[in-house]
Amino acid sequence: MRIAVIGGGIGGLTAARALVAAGIDAHVLDASERPGGVVVTTNVGGFVREHAASSFLGGPPHGALALCNELGVAVDKASPRAKRRWIFIDGKLRAVPTNPIELARSDLLTWRGKLDLVREPLRARRGLGEDESVHAFAARRFGAEAARALFAPFVTGVFAADAHAISLEAGFPRLAALDEQGGVLVGFAKQAVAGLLARARGETEPKTARGLWAPRGGLGTLASALATSLGDRVRSGVRVREIVRTVTGVAVDGERWDGAVLALPAELASAMVVDSMPEVATRLRTIYRAPVAIAYLGFPERAVRSRDGFGFLVAHGEDLRVLGVVFESVVWPDRAPSGQVLLRCIFGGGRDPEACDLSEPQLVEVARRDLSIALGITETPTHASVVKWDRGIAQYQVGHRDHVRAAVVAARAQRIALAGADYRGASINELCADASVIVDEVRSWA
Ligand SMILES: Cc1cc2nc3c(=O)[nH]c(=O)nc-3n(C[C@H](O)[C@H](O)[C@H](O)COP(=O)(O)OP(=O)(O)OC[C@H]3O[C@@H](n4cnc5c(N)ncnc54)[C@H](O)[C@@H]3O)c2cc1C
Repeated sequence: MRIAVIGGGIGGLTAARALVAAGIDAHVLDASERPGGVVVTTNVGGFVREHAASSFLGGPPHGALALCNELGVAVDKASPRAKRRWIFIDGKLRAVPTNPIELARSDLLTWRGKLDLVREPLRARRGLGEDESVHAFAARRFGAEAARALFAPFVTGVFAADAHAISLEAGFPRLAALDEQGGVLVGFAKQAVAGLLARARGETEPKTARGLWAPRGGLGTLASALATSLGDRVRSGVRVREIVRTVTGVAVDGERWDGAVLALPAELASAMVVDSMPEVATRLRTIYRAPVAIAYLGFPERAVRSRDGFGFLVAHGEDLRVLGVVFESVVWPDRAPSGQVLLRCIFGGGRDPEACDLSEPQLVEVARRDLSIALGITETPTHASVVKWDRGIAQYQVGHRDHVRAAVVAARAQRIALAGADYRGASINELCADASVIVDEVRSWA
């Protein structure tokens, strides 16, 4: 089969690679001159700027770390200084507890909030097959305080979204499963006991590289290596306008193929089939990516009171506009020149899309104000720049799985597969794993 993969982001590139490995003649058509989509790394005066993804977890066996190893891309593990995470809530930064003793001592929750949290196993479970927002789930099982102080910032960290809008089932399927099976704390406890028993029996766990990883030189290196591995199967600078159904497959701007994989934001994919496949177009329009803006600020080390950690997330209702700040050069020391620090400030997302309408100087000013409140930084930055994406981060709204199911069925009837961040997982790890779903889908047309 000869298949057109439209979109050369990580979703399209990993899908094409898996299709080729399965013996399918896949070719990527990408509008940009540089494959990788939103995954771009630029270096401005020694400040290494990630325009989107900046790291991935090492655990999943078919994830990004395994892909880097296959492609010969050198990787680094995040600095041990990055372990601590912070939440800005009730006017100051508070550490996220990492164990029960820290939780007992933490000022992130009141005693009432902590009691509510540990009573989670006694709470009612969700009805089978019912979706709800992550906020509704967290408030139901862990109480309103934990929902605001822990879960909502966590959702902002993953989707730059409002936890009231994001689907538990689609966004956090593991939590949804634990909820149905009798509770999150009980589920974690069972896993811990099973691990201990397995170790007592001498069973060794499969070797996983836990922790946070990134390609040396940034995620852009992975995008380039993926594109290089596909050679002349990647056609850059090709902006597809229309796809129509033919008797045996599809025509992409007049060129005939046996089928197509749409690996670009659903809204753009919808526009390509609006006249020729109206049902697919309608289904795709229900799926949304939010805009996002990133302000990068560099400072001399002395300007920043030493604070270890990955960064901080901001709870709802605080007097800061930034959604979160990554202490980029604490996590990855080579991402700032010697003696300097780099802070990556994220704005917009589903929680505050209007922030992306601010001009670049305005965003830098807001970032400086927020950093002075949260971290006490008052010096003029040595580096300040902004990157914006109109369609940045996928938003899995409540009911997302049903929308995706309906879109996949409608697309299948037209020999079209749906790939990329808008459907079954937005992280780089999930996109790597999703490539095999696309191979199965395309094979099912044979
Ligand atoms: C700020 C930010 C931070 C993030 N942080 C992380 C992180 O730390 N870890 C993590 O795992 N994930 C992270 N993510 C998520 C991850 O980066 C994205 O979900 C993923 O890279 C999206 O890949 P994609 O291939 O689905 O889409 P995209 O990267 O958007 O690619 C779509 C492609 O379609 C092409 N295209 C568009 N229109 C056309 C057309 N008409 N014809 C042909 N081609 C077209 C574009 O050129 C582009 O190459 C982050 C995302 C953002 C925005």
